[in-house]
Amino acid sequence: MPIALPRDDTRWRCTACGNLTRFDVVRSVRTRDFVHADLSGAQQVEESEVLAETVEQVTCRWCNGVNTVELVARPSA
Ligand SMILES: [Zn+2]
Repeated sequence: MPIALPRDDTRWRCTACGNLTRFDVVRSVRTRDFVHADLSGAQQVEESEVLAETVEQVTCRWCNGVNTVELVARPSA
């Protein structure tokens, strides 16, 4: 079960080592892109809108824990 993205009041924390700041994230992103081709046919994406985003796997950069990440509350500002 993949972890949800952090929200304004939550952040990720590795349950194995306590890491709060470094993660490798594999995600699937569905986008609508505005593609602008020049007359030679070379394409460039000039605008990209995210339609859907799913986190597939989060790996801790400190201990290489896979799916050891949980959502915790952020410290209050
Ligand atoms: Zn860790």
